[in-house]
Amino acid sequence: MRPKVTIPHGGGALAGEPAPPHDLHDLLRRHWGYDRFRPLQEQVIRAVLEGRDTLALLPTGAGKSLCYQLPALALGGLTIVVSPLIALMRDQVDHARRRGIPANAVMSGMAAFEIDNVLEDAALGLLRLLYVSPERLGTDAFRGRLPRMPVKLIAVDEAHCIAQWGYDFRPAYMRIPVLRETIPQAPIVALTATATPAVADDIQQRLGFRAPNLLRSPFHREELTFWCSRGEDKLARLRRITERVPGSGIVYMRDRRGTVEMASVLRNMGVAADAYHAGMAHADRLRVQRDWQEGRLRYVAATNAFGMGIDKGDVRAVVHLGPPPDLESYYQEAGRAGRDGAPSYAFLLLDDGDAPRLLQRVQDGYPTTAEVRRTYQAFADGHRIALGSGLHEAYALDLRDLAHRCGLRPTTVLGALKALELNGDLVLSEGVHTPSRALLICSPSTVHDLRLHDNRLGPLLEVMLRSYGGLFEAPASIEEERIAQLLATSTNAVRDGLRELQRMDVLRYAPRTDDPLVTLMTPRRDAMRLTLEPEALDLRLHGALERAKAMVAWSASTAGCREAGLLTYFGEPDPRPCGRCDRCRSLPTAEATLAVDGPDAELLRWVRSET
Ligand code: ADP
Ligand code: MG
Repeated sequence: MRPKVTIPHGGGALAGEPAPPHDLHDLLRRHWGYDRFRPLQEQVIRAVLEGRDTLALLPTGAGKSLCYQLPALALGGLTIVVSPLIALMRDQVDHARRRGIPANAVMSGMAAFEIDNVLEDAALGLLRLLYVSPERLGTDAFRGRLPRMPVKLIAVDEAHCIAQWGYDFRPAYMRIPVLRETIPQAPIVALTATATPAVADDIQQRLGFRAPNLLRSPFHREELTFWCSRGEDKLARLRRITERVPGSGIVYMRDRRGTVEMASVLRNMGVAADAYHAGMAHADRLRVQRDWQEGRLRYVAATNAFGMGIDKGDVRAVVHLGPPPDLESYYQEAGRAGRDGAPSYAFLLLDDGDAPRLLQRVQDGYPTTAEVRRTYQAFADGHRIALGSGLHEAYALDLRDLAHRCGLRPTTVLGALKALELNGDLVLSEGVHTPSRALLICSPSTVHDLRLHDNRLGPLLEVMLRSYGGLFEAPASIEEERIAQLLATSTNAVRDGLRELQRMDVLRYAPRTDDPLVTLMTPRRDAMRLTLEPEALDLRLHGALERAKAMVAWSASTAGCREAGLLTYFGEPDPRPCGRCDRCRSLPTAEATLAVDGPDAELLRWVRSET
């Protein structure tokens, strides 16, 4: 029999008991220290507490997490949160815990013993929040325990990932409806920042909403000025932006090399700047983000990897040196300016080569069947995955190395991996920094013997036990460097020792990782036996090209307001012209003459004269 567990936090009822009436504002104050809800949060939360399936469409930074975290407390039992952003999960777990919400996560990259520990806690009722990456939903470890979990709510973060023709379809999201079959009583709250009307419908349908229920905040951004500017010398225009727009900003580039070059261009302009992309070491990424957030850097030149999880209100300018692949990405990235509500700018700098380059790049991302097979073969061989093995295992992805071994370009290899993902063979996830972990699994007497009689492994165990408490109870994060220092030996010797102890079944050891991961969703197959759906790939390319064309058309448009164009794309009926963008400024309309003498008048006069 399992012990009965009571949870001191949260005040919710455990499984089976009726939930008490909730004072939402009281929970908000006590756990978050906030006085009031942001727009729409309370509406979403109330709908969820009434048991209604809800799709919430709120911009990035609007506070979507609260829309499931607060219900998790109020409802008691367990809330399962599905999210593809595994790089952020650990942070979210830490945040939730600091607010007194028992939380944990399971995702690719964790060792099986750790996943088992967390899932067992969830089944025992020890957790209020369980973050799960979508590919974990299909594993036996998860499915076996799900019926025992006291699930009260299913939250689907980044819900647009389930829309097949959306801009960020992730096939592993198709596993979410299975949750609903096993636990039909729990309502679903789905959250996303960007969805066209067709995508919003698709999300609700695929998640099996009992009744449609879409709550959306207006996309309109009073403080943000959209400005597209066309001309040959983009760098001269960038320089003027950094000179005339005070405050910090982001320059978005489309590839990693571009960010490094751009950071040095900015520094030559006298702007404190650095680069940020997903290929950088974890510590460097953290440093750049922190320096920028705390004002030591004014600009960051970044790929789209920069943005997830950053929380900086006073960004005054977001500059794109060329168009991103679709308006969804553009609106997300540009929207990072002006979160504090002060006047801010989204500049898109264009030249005549941009449109053909973009369409070509989209096309390049879609490899041939032969290239997909070659990529699969090289990947599996590189990791020595035997035929029929590897199911649900996560493998580090070194894209450059893999591309080199395939003799293909990295974009093509990435496209091939995405095709395999669409085909259901694997799941890609971004780089996650996971520290090394260890757990002792032998009896204390075995440890005692080793300490007495093994003059190599004994001292290693000694130091581990002194440095990390509770090693027998739960996996602890360890630092091989620190252990090496204490033992006056090399880090490699420590790693070897830990591996040896693992082989002796004394402990479990999961070394740290920092690379993007590929998780196999089918056992390794013969590359020639891969059945790839050509129609699915063609249709996906078709969708991507359509979105790219919409991006090009919007940026090249000479009719109508920029913001209104975006709002129409996202399904807002009859948007008004903003009166601030480059289009509105060039039109002799009443709206356009209104704001010319505002604080940004000088800037606007300048930009106008340039374009
Ligand atoms: P999203 O997921 O919508 O991008 P988050 O949930 O990450 O946004 O929240 C963004 C920030 O807003 C966080 O720092 C969060 O603590 C803060 N926040 C959320 N709700 C409120 C509120 N009601 N009052 C003040 N700050 C809030
Ligand atoms: Mg979020």
